[in-house]
Amino acid sequence: MPELPEVETVRRTLSELIVGKRIRAVTVRLPRILQKPDDPDVFGTMLEGRTFTAVERRGKFLRLILDGLVLVSHLRMEGRYGMFADEAPLDKHTHVIFHFTDGTALRYTDVRQFGTMHLFPAGEELVSPPLAKLGLEPLEAGFTADALRTSLGRRNTKIKPLLLNQEWIVGLGNIYVDEALHLAGIHPERMAGELKPKDWSRLHEAIVTTLSAAVEAGGSSVKSYVNGQGEMGMFQHRLRVYGRTGEACPVCGNAIAKSVVGGRGTHVCAKCQKPPKGAAGPASGVSAAASKRYREGGNTVKRRLDGSAAGHT
Ligand SMILES: [Zn+2]
Repeated sequence: MPELPEVETVRRTLSELIVGKRIRAVTVRLPRILQKPDDPDVFGTMLEGRTFTAVERRGKFLRLILDGLVLVSHLRMEGRYGMFADEAPLDKHTHVIFHFTDGTALRYTDVRQFGTMHLFPAGEELVSPPLAKLGLEPLEAGFTADALRTSLGRRNTKIKPLLLNQEWIVGLGNIYVDEALHLAGIHPERMAGELKPKDWSRLHEAIVTTLSAAVEAGGSSVKSYVNGQGEMGMFQHRLRVYGRTGEACPVCGNAIAKSVVGGRGTHVCAKCQKPPKGAAGPASGVSAAASKRYREGGNTVKRRLDGSAAGHT
C-alpha cells in the first residue's frame, strides 16, 4: 500500500498533469469505487464542466480540488492514475475516466479494486469521513516532538501499532514505521507510555528524516506501486531494515530479524533497537553471512529490484 511518500509523489505528478484541465464528461465502469455519491450518474453530473485547480494531500488521501468541489481519493493497494489521449485503448482494470475538453483523459486503474473516491462541496471534506478523524500530519510545520508525545505518549500500547493508526499520526504504513523506529533506535514493542522525552525527540526527527528522504527519492517501489506517471520510486534501494530480513544492519552489521508486532511483519535490529524486558522479540545475534556482507559493504547492492524480497504481511 502506498504510504505518505508515494502518495505525495503521485500528488506532485498529478498536479503537473491535471491542473487547469476542464472535465467534459465522466465514465464510471466500476461503481463500487465511488463511495459518495455512490450513483455514477450523480457523480458524473456533479463533475461535468468543472476544472481541476490544485491537487493536495491529507495523510494517504489525495484531495483533487476543483472549482467548488473536492474529490477525495485513496489508492489503497494498487490504485493508479494515468493521463492518456481520450481515444487510447482502455485497460480492463480502468474503472473511472475523467474526459477533458482538450481531448485527453485522466484514468483511474485499480487491479485490486480497493480504491475509494468521495466527492464533497469544497471544505466539507475536512470535517467528514474519511478525513475528519485523521491525526498529525508529519511533514507540516506544526509537527513537533511535543505534539507527537502529546498525541501518543499517554497510551499504554506498543509504539508500532500506534504509529500505524491514522487517528494519531497520518501517512506512516508498515515500511516507514519500521524504517523510522530503526533510525530512532526504538524497539517496535516498547510501550508508548514508557518512552522518555529523548526517545520522542529521536522518533520525531527519525519520522521527518525518513519521510522527507523518501519523498525526495519519489517514494519506494515495493511490489507494484508506481507514481502518477507510471514511474517507479527509488527509495526502496535505501531502506535500512524493511524487507531486509537476514541482511546486515547498516549501522552495526547485526542480522536484521523479522517478527510479528500487532499482526504486522516487523523488521528490527535487536542491537540498535533494544527489546523491552519480557518481549519475546526477534532473535538477536549476528549471522555469519550477514556480517560478511556487511564487512564487504555489499548489503546495499544485493537487493533484488523486483521487490520480491519485500513481502507484505
Ligand atoms: Zn544495528
